[in-house]
Amino acid sequence: MVHECTHAFFDIKNLGQHLKSSDEAAAYLAEAILLEAGSRPPLGTERVRQVSHPIAKKVIKGQYWISDADFKALSAAWARSEGADPKTMFNSNGLNTLPRTARPLIELFK
Ligand SMILES: [Zn+2]
Repeated sequence: MVHECTHAFFDIKNLGQHLKSSDEAAAYLAEAILLEAGSRPPLGTERVRQVSHPIAKKVIKGQYWISDADFKALSAAWARSEGADPKTMFNSNGLNTLPRTARPLIELFK
């Protein structure tokens, strides 16, 4: 849930074109931070989930940024876990691609 909310947050922010691997890295890290804060294990055995938890532990200890090396490891792990091209782009457009029935809920968050 936190993972998907992170994607929705970035989309609401209308950030434009950016790497999908960046979006996924942030979403998996958000998920890991929540789980680690509750002393919970990763939700699965995917490489991206295994890589995100040690980074989440650093954030919980007070490091509110991640190093380039950790970011690259997280992005690469996502691409490998999903079998995705790490250069795939994602369009953050204010949730404008969602159906009209979802719009009233979205307006609450703007
Ligand atoms: Zn995702």
